[in-house]
Amino acid sequence: MREALVWEAEGERVHCLLCPHDCRIAPGRTGICGVRENDAGTLVPLTYGRVSSVAVDPIEKKPVFHFRPGTTALSLGSVGCTMRCAHCQNWQISRADPSDAHLQLLPPEDAVRLAVQHGCEGVAFTYNEPVIWVEYVLDTARAAKAAGLYTVMVTNGYITEAGLDAIGEFIDVWRVDVKAFDDRTYRSLCRVRSVQPVLEMAVRAHTRWQMHVEVVTNIIPTINDDEEALRGIAAWIASDLGPDTPWHITRFFPYVELAHLPATPIPTLKRAVEIGAEEGLHFVFLGNVDEKGAEDTRCPSCGAVAVARDGYRVTGTHLSGSECASCGRPLGVRT
Ligand code: SF4
Repeated sequence: MREALVWEAEGERVHCLLCPHDCRIAPGRTGICGVRENDAGTLVPLTYGRVSSVAVDPIEKKPVFHFRPGTTALSLGSVGCTMRCAHCQNWQISRADPSDAHLQLLPPEDAVRLAVQHGCEGVAFTYNEPVIWVEYVLDTARAAKAAGLYTVMVTNGYITEAGLDAIGEFIDVWRVDVKAFDDRTYRSLCRVRSVQPVLEMAVRAHTRWQMHVEVVTNIIPTINDDEEALRGIAAWIASDLGPDTPWHITRFFPYVELAHLPATPIPTLKRAVEIGAEEGLHFVFLGNVDEKGAEDTRCPSCGAVAVARDGYRVTGTHLSGSECASCGRPLGVRT
C-alpha cells in the first residue's frame, strides 16, 4: 500500500490536508470520504488504481464543450466522495465501501495504454469524486501527458490548495459543479460546510494552473432555483473566471433523497439561461433537455454556429483555430 499525498502526523492520528473536511483520523479509521485510512500512523489511499467504472466517452458527455470538441476520453472512476449530495446520480459508487465494492485493478500505465488502444485523445477522472484518489490521478495524468493525451477532472471542486497544487501541472480541464451559491444550501444539500473552497479552487485552477474551466449547475426546484442564487453563480463566473467560461445548466430529475421533487420546469431553465446572459456570460448551455440548438456554441459577435451538437455528438464545426470562422472573434475553444 503506498503512502498518501498531503497529510501530516499528529501523534497517533493522521491529519489529511487534501480537502476542506480537514479530517483527523484515528488508527484503523478512514476520513469522511471513506477511502483514506490511518494505517498504523500513515495515511494511505485505499482505492489507488482500483476502478469501479471504465468507459470511452465523448468529452461532451462530461460535459465539456470548449476543449477538444469531438474527441473521446477514457473515463475512469472508483468509489467514495467528499460530499453526500441528496440527489447523487452515482450514489452506488459514491457511497460504496472500498472493501465491499468489486473494483478492478488498473495501474496508471495500463490505463494510458487502454486509452491509446481505443483511440482516445484524453483521460477523464470522473463518475465518483476524483479528488479522493489524487495519488492515482497524479500518476495516471503524468503518464497520460507523457503519451500526448489531455486530462480532465470532473469534480465537485472540494479540494484544498495543497491538493490542487499536487496535480495542477498535469491537469488540462477542471470541470466543476457549483451546486449553489451559499453555505446553507451546501450544508443541507451536500453535507459540507461551505461553497467558498469550491469557488476559490476553481479560480486557482484557472489562474495558477491555466486549466480550462467549465461550470455545471444542476437546477433543483425549491433548492437552488431562486433568481438570487442563479444570478450569484453567473456573476461570479463572469467576474472571476471570465465571461467566455461555459456554464452548463442541467435539468434535475427526481432521484434518491430528492425523489419527492418534480423535474425542473423548462421555463425555470430558460430563465436561468437569460440570467446567465444578463450577467455577461457568452456561453450558457442547457443540458438534459430536448431543445434544438440549446447545446450549440454560437459566436457572441456574429451569431454563427461555431460548434453544432446533437446530444453528445459534434455534428459540425465552424472554427478557425479557436476563433469563429465567420468573424474571427476568439471563442476560447481549445482545439
Ligand atoms: S480527502 Fe477524505 S480523508 Fe482527506 S480530508 Fe477530505 S474527506 Fe477527510
